Amino acid sequence: KKCKCDVECQLNNIIKKMKERDPNQNEFHQAVEEVSKTLLPLFKKEDKYLSVFERMLEPERALQFRVAWMDEAGKKHVNRGFRVQFNSAIGPYKGGLRFHPSVNLSIIKFLGFEQILKNSLTTLPMGGGKGGSDFDPKGKSNIEVMNFCRAFMSELYRHIGPNCDVPAGDIGVGGREIGYMYGMYKKITAQNEGVLTGKGRNWGGSLIRPEATGYGLVYYLDNMLKANNKTIKGKRVLVSGSGNVAQYCVEKLIELQAIPLTMSDSKGTIFVEGGIDEKLLKEIFELKNVNRGRLAELKGRKGVQYMEGKKPWGIECDIALPCATQNEILGEDAELLVKNGCFAVAEGANMPSDPDAQDVYMKNDILYGPAKAANAGGVATSGLEMSQNSLRMSWTREEVDEKLKNIMKGIFDATQNAASLYGKNDIDYLAGANIAGFIKVADSMINQGIL
Ligand code: GLU
Repeated sequence: KKCKCDVECQLNNIIKKMKERDPNQNEFHQAVEEVSKTLLPLFKKEDKYLSVFERMLEPERALQFRVAWMDEAGKKHVNRGFRVQFNSAIGPYKGGLRFHPSVNLSIIKFLGFEQILKNSLTTLPMGGGKGGSDFDPKGKSNIEVMNFCRAFMSELYRHIGPNCDVPAGDIGVGGREIGYMYGMYKKITAQNEGVLTGKGRNWGGSLIRPEATGYGLVYYLDNMLKANNKTIKGKRVLVSGSGNVAQYCVEKLIELQAIPLTMSDSKGTIFVEGGIDEKLLKEIFELKNVNRGRLAELKGRKGVQYMEGKKPWGIECDIALPCATQNEILGEDAELLVKNGCFAVAEGANMPSDPDAQDVYMKNDILYGPAKAANAGGVATSGLEMSQNSLRMSWTREEVDEKLKNIMKGIFDATQNAASLYGKNDIDYLAGANIAGFIKVADSMINQGIL
C-alpha cells in the first residue's frame, strides 16, 4: 500500500523513532520537539530539509568515560564524563562543559543540540558540541576541584583539539576549572594552543569573555525592545541565577539604567525593591566567585528581602531574564509573570522555559528572546577568542565589545527576518531563531554529502 504520509506525518514519525530509540532522554526530546514544531513550515516548503533534520538528530559522536579521582581525605571517587560531538558541518565542535550532579547523556545531548543552532546564529564557523560530568563542585576544596579537572582532562584530551573540538565553561565550570584543565592538556600533549576558551587573560583568554553571555543577553533584549518601540531604561527586571551569566547581566542592566530586582540560587531568591546597585552586586561577585557561598548569607541586609525556597517569578515586573538553568520557568510561572505585568522574556540560561511556558508567552504576545539567540553572546565571544588565538594577537576590550554588540544585533535581525518569513507572527523569534540557525547548518550538510 502506498504511503499517504504528508510532511507533518513524516516529521512525527521521525520524532517517534527518536524517542523510541532513546526513551529516557526527556530534556533532549524537549529540545528537539520545540525545534521541530517551528521548522514544520520550512519542511512544508522545502522537503529536502526533512531528511537532513533526521540526520541532525543523531550526534556525530557521543563519548562517555570514567573519571576517577581522590579527595583530600584519600577517598576514591568515580564520576561519569561526557563529550557529545554533535555536528561539525559549519566548523569544529564548540560548546561548554557542565559539572553538575544532574548531568547525564540526555542533558548533554539537549545542550549539544541547542549549541548547533546557536553557534550557527553567531555567524562564526563553529559546529555544535557539549560535555561535562555529574561531578558536583559544590562543597569541594580547591585541591579536589583541581584533582577532578586533571582526571577529566586525562581522558578528554585525546578527543579534542583547536581544529577539531574546543570546549569551554558552562554551569560549574568557570575560569578556575578551565585553568586546571588547560594546564593538564598542555602537560599531556605538549601543545600550548587554543584548545579551550574562557582562558585567563594572561594566557590566551579574550577580554569580555567572562562578561559576554550576560552582556550579550542584555544587548539582545535591547534590540528586541527597540524593534518594538520600547526602551530598557527604568524597566523592572527579574533575573534568576547568580552565576556568571546572571552577574554580568545585572551589571549591564545597571549600566543601561534598568532596575534589576532579583537574583537567585538553588536555595532561594533575593529581592531588592529599589533595584540591585553596584555596591551590592560587587558583594555578590565576592560571595559567589571567591567564597563560593549562598545568597542566604545576605539575609538581614538593609533593603534586601530573602525569599527562601522561592523562584523570582511572582514579583511585579516588566521583564524576566532567566539565567539559572533548564525548565526553571514552568507554565504556571509564566502565567504568574503575565499576571504581574511582564511583557518581555529573554533567556540567559539554556532552555529555561518549558513548553507550557512558551505557549503562555505565545498566547499573550510576550516578546520572547529564546536562549539559542539571546544567550549566544558567550559562545560568540569564545569564537572571537579562537580567532585571537589563531592570529596570536589580543584585541582590546572596546574591540571585542563592539564585535559582540554587532553580533547580537546580527542575531536579532536574523531571528526577526526568519520570524516574518516563517513564524506564526512577526514576533515569533522562537521560530525565527530555530529556522535561521537551522538553514545554514542544513545547507552545509547537503553541500558536504551524506555523512
Ligand atoms: N556554555 C556556553 C553556552 O551555553 C558557552 C559555550 C562556549 O563558549 O563554547 O553557549
